[in-house]
Amino acid sequence: MQPSNTTAASSWLPKNLISTPPPLSDSAGSMKAPKPSDINKAWGTSSISNYPGPPFLSVATKPLTAEYDFGSCYLPYPSTDDKITSFDYIVVGSGAGGGVSTATLQAAGNSCLVLEKGAYIPPSKLTQIESEAMSNMYEKGGLLTTVDGNIMILAGAGLGGGTRVNWACCLDTPDFVRREWVSELKLPQFEVNSDYDESLKAVKVRLSVNTPPTHAHNSSNKLLIAGCEKLKLPWRVAPQNFKDPTRMQCGWTCFGDKEGNKQSGVETFLRDGAEKGAKFMHCKVLKIVHKANKAIGVMVLPPANDTTSSTVPIFIACNKGVIVSCGSLHTPCLLKRSGFKNSHIGKQ
Ligand SMILES: Cc1cc2nc3c(=O)[nH]c(=O)nc-3n(C[C@H](O)[C@H](O)[C@H](O)COP(=O)(O)OP(=O)(O)OC[C@H]3O[C@@H](n4cnc5c(N)ncnc54)[C@H](O)[C@@H]3O)c2cc1C
Repeated sequence: MQPSNTTAASSWLPKNLISTPPPLSDSAGSMKAPKPSDINKAWGTSSISNYPGPPFLSVATKPLTAEYDFGSCYLPYPSTDDKITSFDYIVVGSGAGGGVSTATLQAAGNSCLVLEKGAYIPPSKLTQIESEAMSNMYEKGGLLTTVDGNIMILAGAGLGGGTRVNWACCLDTPDFVRREWVSELKLPQFEVNSDYDESLKAVKVRLSVNTPPTHAHNSSNKLLIAGCEKLKLPWRVAPQNFKDPTRMQCGWTCFGDKEGNKQSGVETFLRDGAEKGAKFMHCKVLKIVHKANKAIGVMVLPPANDTTSSTVPIFIACNKGVIVSCGSLHTPCLLKRSGFKNSHIGKQ
């Protein structure tokens, strides 16, 4: 007879790693989500892993960037097609691409409506508990895999998209990649020593990208550095978009940054756009509506947690265009759902 899931899983653990193992299955054998307190208590008390638990447990934080009131920039989900007065641009997705597009278009005098299917959680409301962060800030709760289940795919989902949970490593697009884009993909705008360098520079300045001499390294980094030095291999610190990279809390940024230290879209470009009048809506974009090769609006559905709005798709119009910036996973799907036929969509 097979042992129960809980017994089997417990037998793989060293006895002192988890003092009270969280239950993995109920009596019917189906997976049960462990409570946040189970997860962090177990890791926090482990004498082997040295995993201290998220900083909220021990640190009272004063935000390095004051919290912006995005709540007042949100429009309610519409009840009928004609509720939304039309904006110049609709921006689909509020991640790295959506944020820069919104700020740039608003600064140039346009009006933008940013449509984001994930929720906005203000920094002060972040718990940095892993299970909560995964459920609320990641695509499919962090459990998205390839069709064969072999590879886990992590992507941010919420206001700020990936910029809110990423590891803050900010590398310039390498010259060899840019040369490849120019020669193989025929994209001359990425030519080395072109306007693109100015764009990179502007983004890095707004994101406070820096490589200061002192950093707070975690245990794995310290081990890697020691190994490199022993083997006489070169190593260097990667530039990051933290205001203060000496802070120990930087390492927890993949569960959201309560401190406002990482300069995500919420702290930078989305905020710039909002300050210039951009509006936001929590909804899922189903399709881009286009007529005679021009995008004239989108069809939207209510967000997953909205149980009261009608699930009949609603049309939102725009005057000038739709920016499709819903990440590398969803952009091709949205384009295909919208009837675009270009054979490159969704291909490498
Ligand atoms: C854990 C993690 C760590 C990372 N670390 C780094 C790092 O250190 N350095 C680095 O350079 N990069 C890192 N990245 C990658 C980086 O964050 C992404 O490349 C970047 O955010 C992509 O920007 P984007 O605008 O294309 O999409 P995203 O930032 O993914 O934003 C897309 C947004 O669109 C929304 N959306 C999708 N479909 C729809 C729809 N139909 N309707 C409405 N909204 C929709 C999503 O909810 C999401 O918020 C990391 C990513 C993750 C997940």
